[in-house]
Amino acid sequence: MKRRKTREVRIGNLTIGGKNPIAIQSMTKTKTEDIEATLFQIKELEESGCELVRLALPTLSSAKALYKIKEKAKIPLIADVHFNYKIALHAIDSGCDKLRLNPGNIAEKDKVVEIARKARQYKIPIRVGANSGSVKDGETLVSSCLKEIKLLEEEGFFDIVVSIKGTELEETIASHTQMAELIDYPFHIGITEAGPMFSGSIKSAIGCGILLCEGFGDTIRVSLTAHPVEEVRVAKEILASLSLRHFGPEIISCPTCGRCKIDLFSIVNEVEERITGRTSLLAKKVAIMGCEVNGPKEAKRADFGLVGGLRCMVFRNGEIVGRIAEEDATKALLAEILK
Ligand code: SF4
Repeated sequence: MKRRKTREVRIGNLTIGGKNPIAIQSMTKTKTEDIEATLFQIKELEESGCELVRLALPTLSSAKALYKIKEKAKIPLIADVHFNYKIALHAIDSGCDKLRLNPGNIAEKDKVVEIARKARQYKIPIRVGANSGSVKDGETLVSSCLKEIKLLEEEGFFDIVVSIKGTELEETIASHTQMAELIDYPFHIGITEAGPMFSGSIKSAIGCGILLCEGFGDTIRVSLTAHPVEEVRVAKEILASLSLRHFGPEIISCPTCGRCKIDLFSIVNEVEERITGRTSLLAKKVAIMGCEVNGPKEAKRADFGLVGGLRCMVFRNGEIVGRIAEEDATKALLAEILK
């Protein structure tokens, strides 16, 4: 898939933009002042595959808490700052790896300039992140971002990441297209306030999917009213579905119908549990199918496959390597995949 050409930006030990993989970002949902709970959630996120974590800093004390969190966290931390520019200055002192500023609520020239000077001194990139919920009257997502970008550039600051997130898909996509013509800074993409787990995942998949197909996106965050680890799981699925990242084998399985010959739901669940996220496995695709209608073809096209029947067929690299009873089928398929 063709990706938009963007400049590279270094965030702690991670580089985004250019040809680097699209990085997965999420946000802690704890009170940042609760250092223990926040560190626990950062660890959960890291273990789930999150590569950048953003923390809300609504107060000066939360910016101070960041100092202690930063001492123990292993992945890059982004300070999310609104309204009070002094919090941004404190966040830099606390060792944040990136700042997120909202041009809708920190836009005064002298304040942005002070932040830019300090960020440049400490080599901290800034995301100019506009949301449809905080754009000022008379401005658009694009014009609001451009104004802030200009202030930063006038200070000789170019370590910029841009996000333009609307709740409406059309607005978000049009804004990215317009912005891509004007700047080459990396895009952080996502559909803001996408909603609860189920509907929000679908909306994010469609929105981010379209943006990614257009070549936009250097980091991604799926915003869900759910535990942040779920955001990471959905983001990984979006990237893997478009073959932009690989997070272990993809499972191809049929929906089942009245022709299904085996307990496909249980088999798929068990295989999924055993292989999901295992990037060390050679298998890229595993097909698990209910019967001979579409089964053999899908199983042949995958690296490994299982097709239900009186005797289930197990496939490896397009060849049948076993015909076995259903009760032994999962074990046999897993043995092939994990070999
Ligand atoms: S592969 Fe067979 S069981 Fe699965 S949906 Fe198709 S016809 Fe039904």
